[in-house]
Amino acid sequence: MRRAIYPGSFDPVTLGHLDIIKRAAAIFDELIVCVSVNSAKDGGLFSPEERVELIRTVTEELPNVKVDCSRELVAEYARRCRARVLVKGLRAVSDYESEIQMAMINAKLYPRLDTVFLYTRPKYAYLSSTVVKELARYGAELSDFVPRQIIERVRDKVTGSGRDYL
Ligand code: ADP
Repeated sequence: MRRAIYPGSFDPVTLGHLDIIKRAAAIFDELIVCVSVNSAKDGGLFSPEERVELIRTVTEELPNVKVDCSRELVAEYARRCRARVLVKGLRAVSDYESEIQMAMINAKLYPRLDTVFLYTRPKYAYLSSTVVKELARYGAELSDFVPRQIIERVRDKVTGSGRDYL
């Protein structure tokens, strides 16, 4: 069984993330999307549990995708799940340097672990969760940036207009 892990903050999941999820799910037998909360980006807009729920909502139709949350180092999490591959998305050359460093550190911590990079589709190259949050604050149209099922949740969360969906 070829099991891979796609770790990240996913605060919130974007169409760029979803594209990587679909492509990785087509390559591996099982893909675990892991909301990783040990990173410096902690303390985001959505709680880790909410992020998991949003990813579950948008991956409902992908049977070999599981969603989880971890406070461990990604390498430790991968070892525990018996996964040998980490999937990362690359947007720009600027992503490359830090991602290569992370890949090497993770391989040092867990030598059986390989990191596989999937390049972004050009139409998502500019897209990040930070951009989504910024646009949502200004009330911009979000349909080109986040999956349609979660647009309203993102908008409500950002404006604090409150129905708690999760
Ligand atoms: P961000 O907050 O910058 O969106 P995340 O930590 O949530 O980043 O991203 C998780 C993973 O997804 C990382 O490997 C990141 O490079 C990748 N990723 C994020 N946005 C995109 C995108 N638009 N296209 C391809 N990969 C992406």
